Amino acid sequence: MVRFYQGIDLRSRNAMIEFLVKHFRYYTANSWNGSQSYACNLKINRLDLSSEIVDKLFDMIHTQEFFYGIDELLQEFNHQHGYLWQASMNGRNGGYLVLYQGQATKSDYKSFCTSCGQRNYRSVQETGPICGRCKKPHRIDYMTAPLNISVFPGRGTDDNENFKDWDINDIRERVRLVQEFDMLADKIVDYAIMCANNYTVEDEEIFIPKTRKILVPLT
Ligand SMILES: [Zn+2]
Repeated sequence: MVRFYQGIDLRSRNAMIEFLVKHFRYYTANSWNGSQSYACNLKINRLDLSSEIVDKLFDMIHTQEFFYGIDELLQEFNHQHGYLWQASMNGRNGGYLVLYQGQATKSDYKSFCTSCGQRNYRSVQETGPICGRCKKPHRIDYMTAPLNISVFPGRGTDDNENFKDWDINDIRERVRLVQEFDMLADKIVDYAIMCANNYTVEDEEIFIPKTRKILVPLT
């Protein structure tokens, strides 16, 4: 099984620079954009897993539930880094975990509806508790304004960077960030193996309501 986290001597400038320069990289947007950032190849058949687990994972990626758990791990990482650094999947079929730059700013929303989730730029005091969308009197004010979270998909990180000019503390900080990112990749692999060992994929029949034209006798 492939492990992404590597222990690095954080006192050694050379060891740290070598780690950063040799780290696997991938495009943040697409190949013609050219920007790249630190990345981990999470393609199922590149993780050195048993064929049993590999087969199971190829089934599991067709379920939504499988990705809920991965998304939770990504959100945890992004939150811990104040959304200035965000991890996201990229590449055809999303096989690469990529480190992105981003931001979170306070939105101007003042209230929301607890029934349908509709957000509003005005407070309950200003416009009353009735929701404009679902008409229920279930609007309440936010205690703190929600965040607008965004990423800069075209912005690479450390493309052709010359770390020789960097202060050692800055290099150390960047190494720690990339190590935490690599640990996230390990957590995602652990989670996938846990799913493969504890779940099975089954077909569920769903019935979709459909409209058709019918003839009705005149009365
Ligand atoms: Zn509503």
